[in-house]
Amino acid sequence: MTARLDPESGPGGPDSLIPLARPVIGEREEELVLEVLRSGQLSLGPMAPAFEQAFAARVGARHGSAVSSGTAGLHLALRAIGVTDGDEVITTPFSFVASSNVAIYERARPVFADIDPVTLNIDPDAAAAAVSPRTTAILPVHVFGYPAEMAALEKLGLPIVEDACEALGGVYADGGVIGGRGHQAVFAFYANKQMTTGEGGMVVSSDSAHKQQIDSERNQGRAPNMDWLDHDRLGFNYRLSDLACALGLAQLERLDSLLDGRARVAALYREALSEIEGLTLPCEDAGLARRGWFVFVVQLPRGTDKEQTMRALGAQGIPAKPYFPAIHLMSYYQEKFGHRAGDFPVCEDVSERSIALPFFPQMTEGQVDRVASALTSVLARGPLASRA
Ligand SMILES: *Cc1c(COP(=O)(O)O)cnc(C)c1O
Repeated sequence: MTARLDPESGPGGPDSLIPLARPVIGEREEELVLEVLRSGQLSLGPMAPAFEQAFAARVGARHGSAVSSGTAGLHLALRAIGVTDGDEVITTPFSFVASSNVAIYERARPVFADIDPVTLNIDPDAAAAAVSPRTTAILPVHVFGYPAEMAALEKLGLPIVEDACEALGGVYADGGVIGGRGHQAVFAFYANKQMTTGEGGMVVSSDSAHKQQIDSERNQGRAPNMDWLDHDRLGFNYRLSDLACALGLAQLERLDSLLDGRARVAALYREALSEIEGLTLPCEDAGLARRGWFVFVVQLPRGTDKEQTMRALGAQGIPAKPYFPAIHLMSYYQEKFGHRAGDFPVCEDVSERSIALPFFPQMTEGQVDRVASALTSVLARGPLASRA
């Protein structure tokens, strides 16, 4: 296995640096990718359907469509349920920006609903209050891998697209595997996710009409049974190459160990950080719900200066990132939709205090301890780390 440095690893010498995220790539990945390279068929070959079937089976879905990114998958999933001009899509402002951008791609409006302060997922009551005659879809995000409250959202009776891009390996409150609920659910395979294809995504569903439309639209609007360069609808190039699908197949083979590794590191963090006063850790699993561990995000004690805290950690070779900034307060969203501070107070409070710590399956206990003691000492400085 080749050691590689993550471009996001932050300052510090090579010995002192802990990357923010780091994929696990081994001989099996090299073997399958090499097989594709030697086959000469680098795209639209046999690896894509093999990856789709294996992935769908893993999450208990009938169909899978491999696409070029999680964002592309969310876009095509919204198109498949017919979201269009002037529609409203209810979603969360506490997410990676892609989950609301995809509505805008179709000239629909992302309508935000505030979040639950414990799970950090969309609050079903707020979602219900946001429904209007123009609402055509709900797009919940399983934030940081913790399952959204699906049963309550389903009661609203609207089509649902699940953003499961952070939630591979998670389990819903009723015990079902995330992705197997029958809605379209979208996963992502950027290099920091639970498994990676470099860039990539997968839409799973139970509806073969959705699968057909997505397979056509990711390939320039060409139905599988059509001749080359024959197109019967508007499409995109959202294909995932066979090289990437080969990588995905190899990652899928080792997914259990990747997930176990993340859960192990999360448990170490929980233990090491439990004594810091005022620090909020990721919520514990409740009932049958299980988090599919993706990131380890903590909410700093109130009054702490987040920027200074991240700088102080960075100076010790520990990268930390603000995660997530509230989407409605991004300049583009403020200008386009007239949002302002105070619109979604729970989201804003959480987002002001949240930072992601280094987190990856092969993180050692020593590395976790280094992050934990650095954070402990930075926060103990009190006045320096607090707003003047
Ligand atoms: C990673 C992620 C996506 C998709 O990201 P891509 O980079 O397009 O693969 C979408 N939503 C959330 C919440 C994510 O974390």
